[in-house]
Amino acid sequence: MPMTAPGLLLARGAERLGISTAPVPLAINSEPYDGRPACARCSQCVGFSCPIEAKNGTHNTLFTRATATGRLSLLVAARAERIVTDARGRASGVAIGGGVGGSLWRRVVSADEVVVSAGAIETARLLLYSTSDREPHGLGNNADQVGRHLQGHLYAGALGLFDDPVNDFVGPGPVISTNDFRHHNPGIVGGGMLANEFVPTPLGSFSYLSAAGLLGLHGAGVKAQMRRLVPRMQRVAGPIQEMTSAQSRVRLDPRVRDRFGIPVVQLSGTLHPEDHRSQTFLTERAAEWLTASGATTVVRSGRRSDHQGPSSGQHQAGTARMGTDPASSVTDPYGLVWGHDNLRVVDGSLHVTNGGVNPVLTIFANAFRVMDAWVGSAGRRRPVTRASRLGPC
Ligand SMILES: Cc1cc2nc3c(=O)[nH]c(=O)nc-3n(C[C@H](O)[C@H](O)[C@H](O)COP(=O)(O)OP(=O)(O)OC[C@H]3O[C@@H](n4cnc5c(N)ncnc54)[C@H](O)[C@@H]3O)c2cc1C
Ligand code: SF4
Repeated sequence: MPMTAPGLLLARGAERLGISTAPVPLAINSEPYDGRPACARCSQCVGFSCPIEAKNGTHNTLFTRATATGRLSLLVAARAERIVTDARGRASGVAIGGGVGGSLWRRVVSADEVVVSAGAIETARLLLYSTSDREPHGLGNNADQVGRHLQGHLYAGALGLFDDPVNDFVGPGPVISTNDFRHHNPGIVGGGMLANEFVPTPLGSFSYLSAAGLLGLHGAGVKAQMRRLVPRMQRVAGPIQEMTSAQSRVRLDPRVRDRFGIPVVQLSGTLHPEDHRSQTFLTERAAEWLTASGATTVVRSGRRSDHQGPSSGQHQAGTARMGTDPASSVTDPYGLVWGHDNLRVVDGSLHVTNGGVNPVLTIFANAFRVMDAWVGSAGRRRPVTRASRLGPC
């Protein structure tokens, strides 16, 4: 996306510090593409759907293309409850269900091939709930790996206030990043990307400023402060690459079930101590960058409490990780669940680590990679690997 006023400010700060910068890759049309317009640079990119469809999502890219083939049936307001297996333990379909007007409906859809893509927490839930005689602890879980290595992103960053207004509120916002601290940071494991942030919503600005101790919680004075501070505020933040831990995991709750009678999930585990060290390191770099760019007040983000459990939120990943050893992974390197030749996972669950950047472009790239390995560019099936035949199931 073209530069913005705060981006230029940060570019000058980076130059003073001698750090290299790069644009931020976004799944947004910078020019008209695929029958949809270029981004109109509005200030409501975060938290709202795009009013002109310049922001790309499955709904306006792959679904529209797949629908055009005439070979896609899309079932809305339905959920997969369980993967059904035949007498040999092979996936043979999916039990689906939904609720209409207070009553529940259920069907079984038979399938030659099943692809699970429900996000890291729900994918683990679905696999764990899909038990069979051959796999009594859930599909792909005979080595007790499904649901483990749950990751998210601990965030580092700082908020800067400038004496004069710096915000032009030109969306989407992120235009400048540095990858200088992704790897090879002396004395710490990991690191991450730093970038300026999306144009915040009014509520977002309020919560950032009050969390930084720069704003009260209510009253006319707070409104006046908001009007003064928001144009002068700029945030630099980024996700750090977390250390994976087998103890951070998704399990089925033995007691609580949802309204469909399916066990809800329990999340357990904590961040690794090294994650906090990376966060402190990257937060300092963000603070330096803002100061070098002219911020006169800089507030560093605080440490996340260990009582809050694993980070796992909007960047959840890792619960069905791919690998070459069935004893320490859930799928082969191409998303094929160990012990199965027609059951695949294609989502953030496959991530072995979640990297030090926002995850979605990696999830996309990996999905294309997995699908290409499956059907091949000539439409040929990739043969079942020796390792998958020899899996633990
Ligand atoms: C508010 C927000 C902002 C974000 N911003 C960014 C960003 O700027 N950059 C970035 O890289 N990433 C961002 N992310 C993260 C990114 O959206 C996720 O990492 C990514 O979408 C995960 O992809 P996935 O395929 O693993 O799962 P999802 O995209 O979550 O897809 C899973 C789908 O499965 C469906 N589902 C779940 N269970 C079932 C079931 N039992 N039956 C049927 N369907 C089911 C869900 O409804 C969902 O549609 C953001 C996330 C959030 C929430
Ligand atoms: S900033 Fe975001 S929401 Fe606004 S037009 Fe651009 S892509 Fe759409």
